[in-house]
Amino acid sequence: NRRFLLARRPDGEPVPEDFSLVTQAIPTPPPGGLVVRNHYASLDPAQRGWMDDTESYMPPIPLGDPVRATTVGVVHASDNPDFAVGQWVMGLNALEDYSVAVPGGFTMPIAVDAVASPSNYLSALGAVGLTAYFGLKEVAKPQPGETLLVSGAAGAVGSAVGQIGKIMGCRVIGIAGGPDKCRRLLDDYGFDAAIDYRGKDHAALVTEITAAAPDGVNVVFENVGGAVLEAEVYTLARNARIVLCGLISEYNATEKHGLQNLWQILARRATIHGFLIADYAHRFAEGGAQMAQWLSEGKLRADEDVQQGLENAYDAFMRLFSGANTGKLVLKIA
Ligand code: NDP
Repeated sequence: NRRFLLARRPDGEPVPEDFSLVTQAIPTPPPGGLVVRNHYASLDPAQRGWMDDTESYMPPIPLGDPVRATTVGVVHASDNPDFAVGQWVMGLNALEDYSVAVPGGFTMPIAVDAVASPSNYLSALGAVGLTAYFGLKEVAKPQPGETLLVSGAAGAVGSAVGQIGKIMGCRVIGIAGGPDKCRRLLDDYGFDAAIDYRGKDHAALVTEITAAAPDGVNVVFENVGGAVLEAEVYTLARNARIVLCGLISEYNATEKHGLQNLWQILARRATIHGFLIADYAHRFAEGGAQMAQWLSEGKLRADEDVQQGLENAYDAFMRLFSGANTGKLVLKIA
């Protein structure tokens, strides 16, 4: 059982020495529990936060433990009558070949078929797709004709948000890094406008967003924070809503940028709403069914960036921070 351990807490950007890959015995199921052979693991920006020893919505990953990750896999051994050996499951496990699932933990069966591949449960049909769906539908509540601005727009969450925004009748503007990603926003995901944030100062970003949204932005779906958010607040229409989904530009920063000009929020009567997908766990079946329907109807495109092998976990993870990933970043383990 190869396991990718957190050996030391990263100071800023993670380095390879913060992790170690060890081989241990394959575990046996605890009473009432399971052992899962992981096939795919989700690599998420949130994992960077879990590596820090700071107060958050989940405890930090203990040093010496494998890096926590959502995985999909097959039941390898079972002491639970509800789970048969060979059955596909999804759960909050770790970057390791085999994970132990305890009774009452977050493990659920998944239907792998012609419509849904195992890795789809880490992308469009998993937390990422549901983050886009519930964050937009239930928190932002966009009205047809409103202007929606998405940062991190070519990423897993952002590309889904933009496409769902189009389905809901919004005008959708995306901010992403580099000309290739901006082309994908327009050609692959159907955004109305795309803005490349790289190499642009505050004034240039504000000018470009304003040109794309002359009447102001009604809804911001924020994945990035920092300088991007700082520019966005100068482009808000009155009563705009900002859904604070993520702040990836700050995850490796030793000094957080923060929002410098809160006055813009006040003057524009805007709202900032923090959002965590975990709060919608009781509605995953509903959101998953809608996402599956849009996928099967061809209304939604969900790209996956599948990297190979636990031994490449570090390099794969860092793609999230260089922007190398094209679509939902997934690590194939088995
Ligand atoms: P993505 O697929 O979007 O990958 C991360 C992307 O972030 C990169 O491709 C890169 O795109 C961009 N990025 C990285 N560093 C920076 C930076 N310094 N400045 C600007 N952009 C940067 O990842 P996810 O879709 O999985 O996650 C997107 C966001 O959603 C994250 O902030 C994550 O924490 C959040 N999230 C929140 C959830 C919640 O419940 N609130 C649940 C799931 C995700 P580019 O090339 O465009 O720079």
